[in-house]
Amino acid sequence: MVPANGISTLELDRTGTSPGALIDPFARTITYLRVSVTDRCDFRCVYCMSEHMTFLPKADLLSLEELDRLCSAFVDKGVTKLRLTGGEPLVRRGIMTLVSSLSRHLSSGALKELTLTTNGSQLEKYAAELKNHGIERINVSLDTLDPDKFRAVTRWGDLGKVMAGIDAALAAGLKVKINAVALKGVNEDELAGLLEWANDRSMDLTVIEVMPLGDVGETRLDQYLPLSMVRARLAERFTLDDIDYQTGGPARYVRVKETGGRLGFITPMTHNFCESCNRVRITCTGTLYMCLGQNDAADLRTPLRASDSDGLIHAAIDEAITRKPKGHDFVIDRRHQWPALSRHMSVTGG
Ligand code: SAM
Ligand code: SF4
Repeated sequence: MVPANGISTLELDRTGTSPGALIDPFARTITYLRVSVTDRCDFRCVYCMSEHMTFLPKADLLSLEELDRLCSAFVDKGVTKLRLTGGEPLVRRGIMTLVSSLSRHLSSGALKELTLTTNGSQLEKYAAELKNHGIERINVSLDTLDPDKFRAVTRWGDLGKVMAGIDAALAAGLKVKINAVALKGVNEDELAGLLEWANDRSMDLTVIEVMPLGDVGETRLDQYLPLSMVRARLAERFTLDDIDYQTGGPARYVRVKETGGRLGFITPMTHNFCESCNRVRITCTGTLYMCLGQNDAADLRTPLRASDSDGLIHAAIDEAITRKPKGHDFVIDRRHQWPALSRHMSVTGG
């Protein structure tokens, strides 16, 4: 199939990237897979889920073995970075079996990094095991250091448990990055304190703009805080110097002179970063989303289950990548206060 720009994936293969690599119609090489291992979670964050969520029927979920096979098919196709996410990845039963089996791709050198994004609630239990399986860095989502506010934002969360989880992760030797969603009227006055707290403990902080994914029961205009405003406010107190540091994701980083640490900005709303997108996402039911901000998807569960060899999965992945769109076009303003997509973030993972 020849995509809209007239360049076939075959031709792009001939331009230098290894044969079989995943190259999309806009010449972006796909090397990063995010895997939502469950859409369930022990929290109900106000920007991510509604209070009464309906989750996917358990019967629709891929088994851990099937998830491993699917991830491994992407590794065969040149994916070098794999992030487990969700929902909350550490509440999926048997998750350490998957982490352990995927770690063979670290040992073989095919995978440069295996990592995960977690709300931290189960970290105390799993941190050492994660490190033993070759995980070096994790992201922990934490929007506030105030226990009451934390409970209000997560609806069900216990800040003490998350703090114990972060302590355990640091003690195990994991590098921890803190992710905070900037929320109007909720944590906007706290971000300076969160930055100092994180950097003092050798953790980077990344702030994220809220995206209009899924109906969460309140309008996004009430939550949305542009990071241009956050940066301007932080710059009144800290010296922020742009740096080239990259972690393979969409964040742009600054060095904070006063703390010596790093601060990242993920700005899907105010600054679209799609031109350098190297990512695709699979859900726990084996649906491949080529873009977080679009509805187009490919079913990988059917080819996965249709044959014991991986030929059909490889072909389905190749075909899907020819449909990766140029980018997303989220808007939150007075006319666009409701979800851009009905899909919640917990389905495709952050
Ligand atoms: N449960 C894990 C956690 O919270 O870290 C992993 C999944 S969660 C969906 C991944 C990330 O997406 C979290 O950092 C969360 O704050 C972020 N997130 C969820 N909904 C969002 C939204 N509507 N806009 C921006 N970020 C969102
Ligand atoms: Fe759960 Fe993470 Fe969504 Fe919060 S952001 S509800 S912790 S999946």
